[in-house]
Amino acid sequence: MTTPLDCGGFAVAHYREILERALEMGYAFSTFADHASVDSPRLLLMRHDLDLSMHNNLRFARIEHELGVRATYFIRVHAKLYNPFEYHSYRSLQEIESLGHEIGLHYEPGFALAVGEDEAAMVRREKRILETILDHPVVSASAHLPGKTGTTVTAQNKNDFGLEHEGYEPHFLNGEFKYLSDSNGRWREGCLCEHLGAHDRLCVLTHGWWWFENSPVENY
Ligand SMILES: [Zn+2]
Ligand SMILES: [Zn+2]
Repeated sequence: MTTPLDCGGFAVAHYREILERALEMGYAFSTFADHASVDSPRLLLMRHDLDLSMHNNLRFARIEHELGVRATYFIRVHAKLYNPFEYHSYRSLQEIESLGHEIGLHYEPGFALAVGEDEAAMVRREKRILETILDHPVVSASAHLPGKTGTTVTAQNKNDFGLEHEGYEPHFLNGEFKYLSDSNGRWREGCLCEHLGAHDRLCVLTHGWWWFENSPVENY
């Protein structure tokens, strides 16, 4: 029986410690794209939604790579504060991919409604834009602000968009996987560190924005 970790909150050092502990406990890590072929009784899918900025994501990607862990980074194409094709952002995406991680689309249900266009067509356009930026197909996606925009597009539409995996499909949401999220800077069901070992399959959503080295004033 391993002793529980002292919870370090949103310190990046705690993020590393959680991954190390998960590895010690026998969790395999995978991208969304490859998770179905992982043969391990314990599996952790780490999902990073890039809501506001690229902040901390390269840091996460490097830590994960050092530990031999793969994760999936979901990128917006309508974000106010970052442009994935801007030099520094694009260099980050190149590095994230070169470290073995997957890049998926953080699509925006409701964007089309806000601008008076067809919703499904807009998600397909977002996917094509990200595929053009990356110059390869995108097979995984997650919705930004699902349920807040009056949209009719849901995870059930993934096939219409040519997607294989959607972060909010029942499979990942307390179906086969136990789902945990740090949305709003708060682990609603307690920090991920408290759940290691309690569930063999974990799907975990984190946002780089909330994590810091010494103090949250580094970010917000
Ligand atoms: Zn913790
Ligand atoms: Zn989001």
